[in-house]
Amino acid sequence: MDLKRAAKRRAKALAKADASQQELGRQDYALAEILHKIYPTVSVFDFVISQYHECAKSPVGMCIYDNLNDSMLDDCLICHQPEVRK
Ligand SMILES: [Zn+2]
Repeated sequence: MDLKRAAKRRAKALAKADASQQELGRQDYALAEILHKIYPTVSVFDFVISQYHECAKSPVGMCIYDNLNDSMLDDCLICHQPEVRK
């Protein structure tokens, strides 16, 4: 599965009001596995996808952070913008 397709599936799952946490988790994990191939230094468990900040170049349309090395979520892997805009 490629990144665009995984991102699309995740967005679809998020849009469903009755989507289970398990299903959402599965889609998040599928996406994280692909992100991990692009950013091999980030573990599949450490990707955080912003719920607030849109990211033009992001495959999911939102900023993506490395929670292990950037726990303040202020350096998006793609646009390097902070989660909490100063
Ligand atoms: Zn970003």
